[in-house]
Amino acid sequence: MSPSSIRNRKLIIQKHLLMWYKKNARPLPWRKTKNPYRILLSEIMLQQTQVSRVMLKYPEFVRQFPNFACLAQARTADVIRAWSGMGYNNRALRLQQISRCVINDYGGRLPQDVETLQQLPGIGRYTANAVACFAFGLQTAAVDINEERVLSRLFPQRAQASDIWKLAEQMLPKGKAYDWNQALMELGGIICTATNPQCFECPLKQDCPSAFSTLKKKKPLKRKSQTTIPNRIYRGRIIATLRMIARHRSIEANLLAKTVKPDYSFRQKEWLDKLLDGLLRDGLIQIRSYNKKIYLSLPR
Ligand code: SF4
Repeated sequence: MSPSSIRNRKLIIQKHLLMWYKKNARPLPWRKTKNPYRILLSEIMLQQTQVSRVMLKYPEFVRQFPNFACLAQARTADVIRAWSGMGYNNRALRLQQISRCVINDYGGRLPQDVETLQQLPGIGRYTANAVACFAFGLQTAAVDINEERVLSRLFPQRAQASDIWKLAEQMLPKGKAYDWNQALMELGGIICTATNPQCFECPLKQDCPSAFSTLKKKKPLKRKSQTTIPNRIYRGRIIATLRMIARHRSIEANLLAKTVKPDYSFRQKEWLDKLLDGLLRDGLIQIRSYNKKIYLSLPR
């Protein structure tokens, strides 16, 4: 392909996708704001949770903690409680740590440049670029899993051979990074999905070498019969139980173990200790001992 035909293809893809996005973008609440706190919150919520669930929790969380200052000052136990239903509770802690950093080290304002954003607790390359683009208008690529999938289907050879970030940066339409990144994510989220891409509905079907025939639909994985419940489920159950306990109250460790695992016995004490150590290390629980017994609560 000559350089001019590559350029033409790029322009056509940009035009078709941006036109489609303009007509089809879902009115997600975080698309109606440039507030850095709200953008960051949405990005962290969306990391491991479906859009439909985030849409329910996001406004509720914003009402309770409307800005960095409120979240920084809040009791950690209340933040973990407010995160209920989202899973992966570490994200709630990380968000509070970031808020405290913003208040204490950056005068209450989220830094705007990607390098500084990446120095905040738990902010990686994607989140830093997404926040810089969506909140501060930086003309930068933000490659999440959806964007990566769409680009690698549109440019199968290049995506395999080169860094996907480099490709994403080359594809950015001048001055339209916000819409472009959102459009790629939207397409990846609702049309160019991982297992059953809707190529008939796709605005890029004429421009895509992977359209229709080349994509094999993945068969759903056969579920292995589950004999053991993963520890992350028990972690979630422990936090869910602690959320239900009244403020300033705690629960004895063995009683908690029986609550989250009805067949728990003292022979599994080592397993319980490891689980609690992990939660303590992550800052999600607080432990105190009294009368040779261990009591647990959410952090104060
Ligand atoms: S045509 Fe199909 S494979 Fe190509 S971008 Fe569209 S949905 Fe994805």
